[in-house]
Amino acid sequence: MAKHRVTLIPGDGIGPEVIGAARRILDAAGVPIEWEVCEAGASVFRKGIESGVPPETIDSIRRTRVVLKGPLETPVGYGEKSANVTLRKLFETYANIRPVREYPNVKTPYSGRGIDLVVVRENVEDLYAGIEHMQTPGVAQALKLISRKGCEKVVRLAFELARAEGRRRVHCATKSNILKLTEGMMKRVFEEVAQEYPDIEAQHIIVDNCAHQLVKRPEQFEVIVTTNMNGDILSDLTSALIGGLGFAPSANIGSEVAIFEAVHGSAPKYAGKNVANPTAVIGSAILMLRYLGEFEAAELIENALLVTLEEGKILTGDVVGYDRGASTTEYAEAIIANLGRKPQTVQVRQYKPLQIPRLDKAIAWVRPHSRRLVGVDIFIEADRTPQELGPVLERLSEGTPFWLKMISNRGTKVYPPTGAMPDYVDHYRCRFLVREGVGELQDVEVLELLRRVGEHYRWVHVEKLMELDGVPGFTKAQGED
Ligand code: NAP
Repeated sequence: MAKHRVTLIPGDGIGPEVIGAARRILDAAGVPIEWEVCEAGASVFRKGIESGVPPETIDSIRRTRVVLKGPLETPVGYGEKSANVTLRKLFETYANIRPVREYPNVKTPYSGRGIDLVVVRENVEDLYAGIEHMQTPGVAQALKLISRKGCEKVVRLAFELARAEGRRRVHCATKSNILKLTEGMMKRVFEEVAQEYPDIEAQHIIVDNCAHQLVKRPEQFEVIVTTNMNGDILSDLTSALIGGLGFAPSANIGSEVAIFEAVHGSAPKYAGKNVANPTAVIGSAILMLRYLGEFEAAELIENALLVTLEEGKILTGDVVGYDRGASTTEYAEAIIANLGRKPQTVQVRQYKPLQIPRLDKAIAWVRPHSRRLVGVDIFIEADRTPQELGPVLERLSEGTPFWLKMISNRGTKVYPPTGAMPDYVDHYRCRFLVREGVGELQDVEVLELLRRVGEHYRWVHVEKLMELDGVPGFTKAQGED
């Protein structure tokens, strides 16, 4: 009787070959899994299903709660969403765990330095919320959405992962020096949650320096937790440190569902040639086994993989060149033949079960003690100079509770003049503040201001300026006092 049911998505391009290799190894290791083979990706887009994920696949995942998947192609330029992002968001797999370690006989400029680290990437928020608008015909906007709850979940998981894997240090990589509210929220939550893990050293690092340090001295890192976009880029960098995407596994973890997949894509140029390196998918399957509590099987397969690499007789083309490389199937067979053996020069880490944070199902409503409307930013499309715009906006705010504090162009204050010399585009933010002495405001007064502005210029976006617990919930423009 199978102990576990797993949804298996072979995927596109090299997917069926590398997934096939991993499945053969798991079956040979005697892991009691019943596979539900399902479709997603290119074939599904071709059938006209816009999400790339058909209802049967969603039903299977709802049943099994665990997925091993191959890469899915994202069609470029057709307006479809990525099927990968659909799956991650649909099942709220909020953390993407991407471990990399140095492998024997996989020569890189870093060989011998003992790289062994994990990037824990927030997986559903940030720019990947995918909320984009053309604000004017010439100016596009993407919303970077970061929630306190989203940060807390992923940060807590990173500390739990460090504990489960016997790691002693967690870095948090953000751009909080520039993006004080969004990236800053991740930093603040990290510093709070770190207090609960006194056994683990917690350190914040600016993400650009993190990239620099990863190239210079990667062995200093053990766990790096970061926001979605930062993590996307940093984790491709860390894959390259240990031999490339063929070696980089990942786990998408949520509180209900977990999806295991290689970091790499469908590598179309190798599709159907039986030459792709299946290590990344095998590594993902090993992560899945630990998630399922199959620690012995995970160690058995990881040892066999390490023995195969250590012996160095059967290595794939990405390591030794495609003219000499073993095929995907030969490599998988070699790992199967090595099941039960232990490597001589490297070791498998000792793992404890990962404690996935228990989540409150209630809607995360963060209530401040006080909130006060202190102004409004109105974004307009206008082919006027700030010197033309400013006096008009000042005049039309007369008799309202608002006064024009400043106008900015792509974040730089341009009115009242500051001496800045920006290259103007037709997209301005007009910041109106509530006049002194005016009491509590109603929306109707904001709408009246908007109506007046709208009589002169095309407004494209409005943002209320709130003070929360006495602290401004908005940032200043470059040059704004
Ligand atoms: P990619 O498929 O990851 O391939 C980029 C390069 O990485 C390949 O050309 C190859 O490098 C190397 N590579 C990747 N996997 C390998 C393996 N298993 N063995 C050996 N070498 C491997 O990235 P892409 O070409 O940008 O994307 C192709 C498609 O995949 C796109 O449609 C993309 O949207 C999709 N994608 C899906 C996922 C996912 O499902 N999670 C992730 C990323 C991309 P060399 O050329 O140097 O040999």
